[in-house]
Amino acid sequence: MDDAIVIGSGPNGLVAAAVLARQGWRVLVLEASDRPGGALYSLETTLPGFIHDVGAAFFPFAQHSPALRALDLEGVGLEWRQGLIESSHPAPDGTCASIASDIERSAKSFGADGDAWRRLATWQQAMGSRLVDALLAPLPALGAALRLGIGNALGLLQAGMSTAAGFSCRHFRTEAARRVLPGLALHVDLGPDDFSGAGLGLVLALLAAGSGFRVPVGGARAITNALLRRIEEHGGRVRLGSRVRDIVVRGRRAVAVRTDSGDEIPAKRAILADVGAPALFLKLLPAGSVPSHLRRAMTRFEYGWGTFKVDWALSGPVPWNHREPRQAAVVHAGDSLADLRRFTAEVRRGELPSNPYLVIGQQSLLDPGRAPAGCHTLWAYSHAPSVVAGGWAKWRETLAERIDQRIEGLAPGFRALIKARTIFSPEDMEAMNENLVGGDLGGGSARFRQQLFLRPAFPYFRHRTPVRGLYLASASCHPGAGVHGACGFNAAHAALRE
Ligand SMILES: Cc1cc2nc3c(=O)[nH]c(=O)nc-3n(C[C@H](O)[C@H](O)[C@H](O)COP(=O)(O)OP(=O)(O)OC[C@H]3O[C@@H](n4cnc5c(N)ncnc54)[C@H](O)[C@@H]3O)c2cc1C
Repeated sequence: MDDAIVIGSGPNGLVAAAVLARQGWRVLVLEASDRPGGALYSLETTLPGFIHDVGAAFFPFAQHSPALRALDLEGVGLEWRQGLIESSHPAPDGTCASIASDIERSAKSFGADGDAWRRLATWQQAMGSRLVDALLAPLPALGAALRLGIGNALGLLQAGMSTAAGFSCRHFRTEAARRVLPGLALHVDLGPDDFSGAGLGLVLALLAAGSGFRVPVGGARAITNALLRRIEEHGGRVRLGSRVRDIVVRGRRAVAVRTDSGDEIPAKRAILADVGAPALFLKLLPAGSVPSHLRRAMTRFEYGWGTFKVDWALSGPVPWNHREPRQAAVVHAGDSLADLRRFTAEVRRGELPSNPYLVIGQQSLLDPGRAPAGCHTLWAYSHAPSVVAGGWAKWRETLAERIDQRIEGLAPGFRALIKARTIFSPEDMEAMNENLVGGDLGGGSARFRQQLFLRPAFPYFRHRTPVRGLYLASASCHPGAGVHGACGFNAAHAALRE
């Protein structure tokens, strides 16, 4: 019999499995899809020879995440690449502010706000890996906060209590610099005026300046493959095409899972669920094993906005007007605070964004093997309502056209380079991976009311559940979205402790 069953092979599930297997546990991972990795994989979605990341594409936690460090993925061949510029924020008026790991390069790009940027980047340097340790430690994370230093912790807390627009306006004078943090906070469902948005925007900006928005050679799937190697070298197994339908509970303990094909697979010590919190507590578990207050909390659990993603196969690099995005790993389209506010309001009203904010990934600039010689891949996502009036089949081409148009505005000639384009609406995202509910890429909203001790619901922020031997290991738990593996790592350690 296996010691542990891990439900789901996203990065958190695989990290959990690798940690347990390394401790000598017999581990079986059951994955619904016919490929591993969840939102951490790459496929030729456009044309043969063009490798596109299906979800996560840039890895600010690659260097310092305690989970990834402990598993030494470089030791099984994982290689990273980094650009000269990590995050570029151009606008049609010709202005651009860019973050690079070289402080002076960024300070020059921030122009009149160069000194303000230098202060933030120097602060980041002083914190080093202690910042990531504190962000990813299991709560209450007092030890990590003390190691970070009270002054640093208070500085981050202050940002965490600010809106991205408020923090930016206090620190920067130019519109170009002021759009950077709000543009980063919008990676998830945090608009410029949302409480705590500055926390995420600032953390992403500091991580970009520190370890950078790295990409793995060969695509995001190279990280998944490295995790699989770590699991297999300790005898762990991954079974694809095995969706778990429910969890068997006896005597208030999780003892087995049942798959869609009717198999009942027992687990001796623990079951770790890399699934959304509402799916775990409302669908996989028998109703009687979940206290009513937790069931109620799960019916109120909020998912973030939908994700609308486009992959392009291009016959050349994107001809950005401004020279900085031509060297950037990630480019953000968001012209001003007003533009980002309008985008946020439209998505919250359930409308198709008129001028879609974009996170644009230029992976093949850093890792040329992702496309045939001379050609390039491009990856971008915007947010959109999970459901639109009339259905996504009606609107997907319209929104993709607006996205093409927006990039064309910043890079005239872009359209002429398109050899193929593949669109993923929020519905397509969920069809690919049931954790991406409504196309939400975060495993649940990132708004303050669903963070820290409230993720997924108090008091279950430390991965334990009301059912003995069952742990929530997905991004629905603190510290939430991102490929850091911390949710799986911390859940596995909770299981080992018990
Ligand atoms: C478009 C997009 C872009 C992103 N960009 C970035 C980025 O650049 N950088 C970054 O760090 N993060 C990014 N993210 C976020 C990151 O990918 C996620 O936070 C991360 O993948 C969450 O990992 P997870 O293991 O919790 O879940 P997932 O990666 O969602 O994996 C869950 C897995 O569980 C499986 N599963 C679910 N239910 C069952 C069941 N009942 N039985 C069996 N299997 C099941 C699913 O099929 C899936 O394979 C992005 C996500 C998306 C979608």
